[in-house]
Order: sequence, then structure tokens, then C-alpha cells
Amino acid sequence: MRPELLNPLFVEATKLRGVGPKVAAALDRLLGAPSRPARVLDLVLHLPISVVDRSTRAKIREAPRDQVVTLEGRVREHLAPANVKAPFKAVIEDETGDCTLVFFRSNAAWVEKALPIGATRFVSGRLELWDGRLQMVHPDRVVDAEAFATMPLVEPVYPLTEGLFPRVLGKAVETALERLPDLPEWQDPNRFVLRGWPGFAEALKAVHHPKKAGDVGAETPARQRLAYDELLASQLALALVRNRQVVDDGVPHVPTGAISAKVEAALPFRLTGGQRKALDEIRADMASPRRMLRLLQGDVGSGKTVVALLAAASAVEAGTQAALMAPTEILARQHHARIAPLAEAAGLRVAVLTGRDKASERAATQRGLEDGTIDLVIGTHALFSETVAFKDLGLVIVDEQHRFGVAQRLTLAEKGRAAELLVMTATPIPRTLVLTVFGDMDVSILAEKPAGRQPIVTLAKPADAMEEVVAAVGRAVAGGARVYWVCPLVTESEHTDLVAAEDRFRALEAYFGDRVRLMHGQMKAAERDAAMADFASGRASVLVATTVIEVGVDVPEASVMVIEHAERFGLAQLHQLRGRVGRGAAKSFCLLVYKGPLGKTSEGRIEMMKQTEDGFLIAEADLRLRGEGELIGTKQSGLPDFKLALLDVHGKLLEEARREAAGLVADDPNLSGPRGPALRMLLHLFERDAAARLLQGG
Ligand code: ADP
Ligand code: MG
Repeated sequence: MRPELLNPLFVEATKLRGVGPKVAAALDRLLGAPSRPARVLDLVLHLPISVVDRSTRAKIREAPRDQVVTLEGRVREHLAPANVKAPFKAVIEDETGDCTLVFFRSNAAWVEKALPIGATRFVSGRLELWDGRLQMVHPDRVVDAEAFATMPLVEPVYPLTEGLFPRVLGKAVETALERLPDLPEWQDPNRFVLRGWPGFAEALKAVHHPKKAGDVGAETPARQRLAYDELLASQLALALVRNRQVVDDGVPHVPTGAISAKVEAALPFRLTGGQRKALDEIRADMASPRRMLRLLQGDVGSGKTVVALLAAASAVEAGTQAALMAPTEILARQHHARIAPLAEAAGLRVAVLTGRDKASERAATQRGLEDGTIDLVIGTHALFSETVAFKDLGLVIVDEQHRFGVAQRLTLAEKGRAAELLVMTATPIPRTLVLTVFGDMDVSILAEKPAGRQPIVTLAKPADAMEEVVAAVGRAVAGGARVYWVCPLVTESEHTDLVAAEDRFRALEAYFGDRVRLMHGQMKAAERDAAMADFASGRASVLVATTVIEVGVDVPEASVMVIEHAERFGLAQLHQLRGRVGRGAAKSFCLLVYKGPLGKTSEGRIEMMKQTEDGFLIAEADLRLRGEGELIGTKQSGLPDFKLALLDVHGKLLEEARREAAGLVADDPNLSGPRGPALRMLLHLFERDAAARLLQGG
């Protein structure tokens, strides 16, 4: 239950004085979510991005031009417009000179009232020189001396949405701030006093009431405090969830090495140092009574699958079963095809289970899992449907985790009483983000690629040069190469200029005849498998596909990747796609075909792709190129959505929050100590209610 003290913040914004239905609708668009309207809390946490500084004051003649200034003058005259289209003008003067105030399409009566002749007025706005005269078009403020005495000279500027005026939003934020309750301090006072960080309410007020431009910057003590609050709430939530998972009936699974040694002997290559180290870490986790929660991070092509297989072998050695879950049907079958021969050589009994199995096959597999005659099962999320039960599931491996939600991850490990969990991802998430995405997991990294890989040559070509691209692909095919050709959409819509995979397929068929196949998400699964199988076996040389091939597909003989409309893909996605080639001995190429003119961001992406193959460098560049605005709204990529913390600026605080959260939960797992009530308040404030519910009496 949310502490009552917080209730005023969770009230709808419409309840605020001065927020009518029209403003409320705009606020919902700006700050609401599909399932809920904008609330007082959302307004309070809606931080300004810059300021308007009205503090520059000077005599009229001496005032700086082309910037916002505040002038004091006596109203000398009104110049009524010559016709309806002309503006209404009023002239103010002081002892140095005069300035014309210009009002287009304004209500003359209003202007005359606001600027009565002979009165002294303070006006603020952008001062310009026009036709030899000083003028101010639509001053933002026109006030008398009394009002000026209380007018803030530095105003916050907020992100807006259509139909919402800055002053209206500013007022709504102001009213919301008045509702801010007096909250207990949840932070460690020592940490805060040392750094001079203000309290929560004080920090919010400092940011909403800037005294100078620097006050809204992300590095001020107030902003750091707020970022830290949000980060601590998220890390505390993850630590509580993890604590629950680890503490709940962990069981040691001690591998003997007998089966994995046989699998290793059957491999056509030697493990890399990284693969070996990751396996050591995984086995140590399994042998310990704590439940494993480990992330295996390795760039595309770094060889995660074999690590998974050897980890599974270790789980079987320890007398349990293992499950490997892939995000798609294609991948589950590919893993099975690859793993089965190696596993069987070592005496491991392997089965595949997906949503598409024949009823009789599926029943047999389910029986085998129940009676323990199947050691390793490879499948899609069908593995975790209610009808599937295991005799003793000791290890769950999730491949390409970013396709699964975090919630799914939490439930699937429940299939085994004390199943260890290994999550594998090829998304090269920068270190700063790993924590936020995956929580406090242990991380193993495959940094080096298997030996013998050749660099991939990456080239960019404009779509106008398509004939050249096709000719180059033709030469490669004649030389025996296998080519992926990626198009972004399936059916051309009238409203876009995206080249459809189907059209491209037909066009390429004209060149390459029956050596081309088409594969996209809307095909029947059997047709898709057939196309993939032809490409893998070499019966086909060109595979025209949508991004279904993005994740995990492994055809080592493929050496050319063509990506059409490369400008439409994100950097991470381009990198994933390119990672489908360069896996064999042949020299590989990636052709980025783009439709110009390129925007700055897409140009930056393509340039980055040409410069490096390093997934971590690319991920960091991606973060930079996406910029702050997009980074905050990372919904699309499944990353958490922070309101106050900017991960590129506050990354260090994130590490710190993670350490503090881990310490807090280790010392006081139920948050029942002196700081407990305030920390629970923090969890609810940042809407980590699910984690708060894990606490007794929470
Ligand atoms: P990913 O990490 O992208 O899932 P895979 O597991 O699909 O990568 O491996 C990519 C390719 O590298 C596969 O063809 C695999 O057989 C091969 N591979 C894996 N480990 C090694 C190794 N140590 N030496 C040589 N080739 C390897
Ligand atoms: Mg893989």
C-alpha cells in the first residue's frame, strides 16, 4: 500500500486549480501514459530544459541587441495600425532613447490598457534594430512597477506539446509544487551533507525556480540528488527482487566435468580464453548454494551458443536437466540442429519443443521432460507454458534476452525449484546500462572473437547506385558467395518509399533466377524454414529478408550483407545485421544502401559502421547519437524510462546507487531498520510498487 503521505502527488492533474479540460488533455499527451492521465507527480518531475533569462537590464540606447532584455520606460505614444494587417505599435522612452513595441493582430484595447500613455512600464523581450529603430516584437512581459517587484527574472523553459502554452504549463507546475508533501529524508545523511546535496523538495524547487541558466543543468547538486533518488529507487527494487530469487531455496549444482569434456572433444575448434573464463564463472555459480543470476554478454559472432551447450552439460553432470530458450522458432530449430550432434556425441539426450510441434511429438517430449529421460530441451517460450513440467530443472538459459521482458524472466525460473539462470545477450549494452536493464546480475563478457575471423569491409552506397550494387552482388554470387539482402518492410505502402522485400525479391529473381529466396515474418513458418534451409545448404545464394534474420541466425558461409534503407535502421540493429556475415574464412562485405539526403544522425550512424566493428564502441556511439531526448524515451528498446536521471551524465551515480542498494538489502533485507519507512516511501514515489510489495508489511 502506498503511504498516505504520497497520495496528493498521485492525484490527477485536472484537480489542480487552473487546469481545465483543454489543458488537462494537453498535459495527458505530454505526461500521461496510455493507462493513466497526467498526475501532480508527473508535473513535479517534469524538469525544465533551459531558462529564459530576463535579468539583463539597461537604459534603452545601451541595451544589448538580439537578446532578451528588460527595459523600463515611460509610454510616449500609441500608433494605431494603418490597415487591419498592420501591427499596433506603442513607443516607450527613457532619457537615452526610445523603443517601439510591436503587436501583430493584437487587441488594440488590451494594448492601450496595458500601456497607458504617460505610465511607467517594465517590458521584457527580445530587443532588435529594425530599419534603424529599436523595437521589441510582442514583449513577453509588460508590467507595472508593483508587479515587476515580484516578477522572476529567470524563468524555467519546459518541454511542451502542441496546444500547451509555456505560461500555462509553468503555472500548472507551480501549483503542483505547492502540493508537495513534507517527506522524510530517505538518503544517507552523511553522503548528502558531504556533497552539499539538498533535500528532495528543496532540490525540486531549486530546479523549477532557477536563479541563473546553470541552475537547470544536469550536473547541479539539485539535479544530481534527484537523479540519485530515481536511480536508488530502481536499483533498490532490482536488489529486492534479486534477493528474493537468490535467497529462495538455492541449491548447489556441482558439475563433475565428465560430460562437458566429451562435448568439448567433439568441437571442431578450441574454446577462446573468454569462453573458458565464462564457463569457469558459470560453473562456480552453479556449485555455490546461491542461485545463479548471470548475464553472458558477447558481441554477435562471439560464440555464445557453445558456452550455453557446455553450461547445460554441466547442469546435467550435476544430476539435473537444462533448458535453452530462444526468442524465435527459427532460432530454436537452428540451435537444435547445431547442438544435437555435439550433445549426442557426449551422451546427452536432447529434444526441441516449440509451439509448432505435432501433438504426438510434443506429448513425447513432455513425457521425457517429466520422467527425466530428456536432459536438455531447446525451445521457444512454449517451454514455459503451464503444461510443460520438468523432473528436475537445474539450469535455464535464455538466449538473446532483449526480446523477453524482465517480468517473463522472473517467472520462467520458477519452473525449476532452484533453477540457475543464465541470460545471453548480443546487444552490446554499455556498462552503464547493463545494470538498469538487467538489474544486479553478475556479468561474464566474451570480449574476443574466435580466431581466424577476417574484418568485414563496410561500404555505403546511395540508392541511386542500385545497379552497381546488384552488379557487385552478381560478381560475388558468381564467385560462390552467399548473400543476405535485408529490406525494412514487407509490402510497399502507398505512403512510404520503403522498398518492399517482395518487390526486391522479384527484381533479383530476374538476375539470379532460382538462386534467390524470400523470407519474412508474414510467411508461413514452413515456407520460412524451407527458404532458410536452402540458403544454409547453399541451394540458394541470395536470401532476401526482412529483419527476421536480425537475431542469431548463423550461416558461416554467408559473406555479403546488403542492407537497404540503411538510414532507417538504428545503429545497434545495423550492427546486429552485419554480424550475420564475417563468421567464416571468406572475406566479408557489408553494403549499406541508403536513400539520401541523410540527416545528421543517420550520417553519423553510417560513418560509425564504416569505422568500427566493435559492438561496445558502437553502442556507446548509439547512446551519443540518439541524444538526450531519445535516450529518456528508450521505451522502444525495452530500456527503463527514467524521468530525472540521464544515463550518459549520471552513469557514475548509477554504479553508486547499485552498490548502496546491494548494501542496504544485504544489511536489512526487509527494510525494517530506521531508514526503512523512508526508503519504502522512495520506492512508492518512483512507482516501484511491485518491489515494495515483496517487503513484509510493505
Ligand atoms: P553468437 O555469440 O552470435 O551467438 P554463435 O554462438 O552463433 O555466436 O557463434 C558464431 C560462430 O562461431 C558459430 O559458427 C560457431 O560455431 C563459431 N565458434 C564459436 N566458438 C568458436 C571458437 N572458439 N573458435 C572458432 N569458432 C567458434
Ligand atoms: Mg547466438
